[in-house]
Amino acid sequence: MRTSQLYFSTLKEAPSEAELISHKLMLRAGLIKRLGSGLYTWMPLGLRVLRKVEAVIRDEMNKAGAQEMLMPAVQPAELWQETGRWDVFGPQMLKITDRHERQFCFGPTHEEVITDIARSELRSYKQLPVSFYQIQTKFRDEIRPRFGVMRAREFTMKDAYSFHANFESLQATYGAMYQSYSNVFARLGLKFRAVAADTGAIGGSGSHEFHVLADAGEDLLAYCPDSDYAANTELAEALAPAEPRRAPGEAMRDIDTPKQTTCEAVAALMDISMERTVKLLALMTSANELVIALLRGDHNLNEVKLGKVEGMADFRFASDEEIRAAFNCPPGFLGPVGIPAGVRVIADRTVAAMSDFVCGANKPKFHLAGVNFGRDLPEPNIVADIRNVVNGDASPDGKGTLEICRGIEVGHIFQLRTTYAEKMKCQFTDADGSLKTMEMGCYGIGVSRIVAAAIEQNHDERGIKYPAAIAPFTVAIVPMGYHRSETIKAAADALYAEFTAAGVDVLLDDRNERPGSMFADMELIGIPHRITIGEKGLAEGMVEYIARAGGEMKKIALTDVVRVLS
Ligand code: ATP
Ligand code: MG
Ligand code: MG
Ligand code: MG
Repeated sequence: MRTSQLYFSTLKEAPSEAELISHKLMLRAGLIKRLGSGLYTWMPLGLRVLRKVEAVIRDEMNKAGAQEMLMPAVQPAELWQETGRWDVFGPQMLKITDRHERQFCFGPTHEEVITDIARSELRSYKQLPVSFYQIQTKFRDEIRPRFGVMRAREFTMKDAYSFHANFESLQATYGAMYQSYSNVFARLGLKFRAVAADTGAIGGSGSHEFHVLADAGEDLLAYCPDSDYAANTELAEALAPAEPRRAPGEAMRDIDTPKQTTCEAVAALMDISMERTVKLLALMTSANELVIALLRGDHNLNEVKLGKVEGMADFRFASDEEIRAAFNCPPGFLGPVGIPAGVRVIADRTVAAMSDFVCGANKPKFHLAGVNFGRDLPEPNIVADIRNVVNGDASPDGKGTLEICRGIEVGHIFQLRTTYAEKMKCQFTDADGSLKTMEMGCYGIGVSRIVAAAIEQNHDERGIKYPAAIAPFTVAIVPMGYHRSETIKAAADALYAEFTAAGVDVLLDDRNERPGSMFADMELIGIPHRITIGEKGLAEGMVEYIARAGGEMKKIALTDVVRVLS
């Protein structure tokens, strides 16, 4: 393609709403454009990247024997009522009503729809096992959409589902999917780690997440450098036994001693044990999750008091339902806990400030029992605290100690077993003639999130450094004087034609711009290889080559370029 035909626009500065480097670069490179909260348009250049990610995923899914299909994005409420998830999925689900007053949702995931297909299509053990997948738009009304397409409300997911006659068959497919996922992320050129995970709202038993390793990641992963053990700390929290509550008043006294670490101070503030605090903080990726963790962590909770911050908001909730809605609680969170109506939760900015405080982002002043952080208590450094505690822990496999790193969840696979099939009567006739419930697996990849995660891992001060597999173009040709010199134009056009014939994705910068701004644009949008054609070199039959990944500028004979780069 030629830049004169490609619509793209780059920005020198990122709009101020972007916090993460990947979000900034995606806006600056003109890959995406914001429509509303958590809603993004993929501009032509960005869509090329998204499609390349999809192509790798498709290829690996096909190799794993899964068959592509496409289910509707809009799903009838009745299906979700069958599994009970209509009521428990929570406010993440966008519910809609049609002109006949029938209820639907915009699919946040597709277990119900695929199980409905399986129960009517698959009748005999002879049809099993079978796997299907789709690449499609999902909608989740995230409480805090942020970081651009990293946590959007509308996003692209690859979701696959497998159906089996028995557990052994599910395990075999699960293993094959685990391998496909590893292949996908390796081919995409990402540094990743597979970790044992909690099954969350999706349900089922065994589960692994795939994380792209990046400091900007919202998840804390515990792993053992001496063995294969790796887990999302969410899992550690889910498995941890409930902690006994402290005696009232004890916490307030604790905080008077100025020698506490941040963790101890937070534990005192929250009136819970140190160990639990560490886990809660490890769990916490947003202020709201902190509150959820608090609510979940203490069954006798009457009042959650985090201290006083200037300009804080103070809410009263009338019912469990309101609390659940406000904090986006996953199913079951408040059910057995039963927070009494009228409970006073100091939330919103207080908790946000608390979150910032423990994360060290900024340091609001907490006034508690006269205690002032920074003056009476040490400056917070919660990440170091978590590291210390986790570093002290033995790996559950007994093969060493744990370390912590941050990850971006890009994939998640589950052994659902018969959770959905039972509720939806998804049965088949086995070889012995008996009627049995199907075993089921499901496998998700955050396709659009991968684009952001890849940039988070591959960039420098000049812009994006795409891994080869997902760059919008592989080679950029930048002629010095395309509009001025006939020889330059002829050489550039010929080279462009040669690359195109060789099947290489090539971008010819035929704009009438200053060389500096053409170079800057090609670097910003992350084209892995750049060929510069100048008059002097051309006189000797040479062009200049530079790799976006780094390294010296090299001279290459014009006649060798395509052979060397394809
Ligand atoms: P997260 O923990 O980040 O909220 P999740 O566990 O809710 O993700 P899953 O239900 O496991 O997500 O969905 C499969 C994949 O879809 C995730 O691994 C992630 O890569 C992607 N995904 C989930 N939510 C979003 C979102 N809001 N924006 C972009 N991608 C998402
Ligand atoms: Mg989620
Ligand atoms: Mg998750
Ligand atoms: Mg997940």
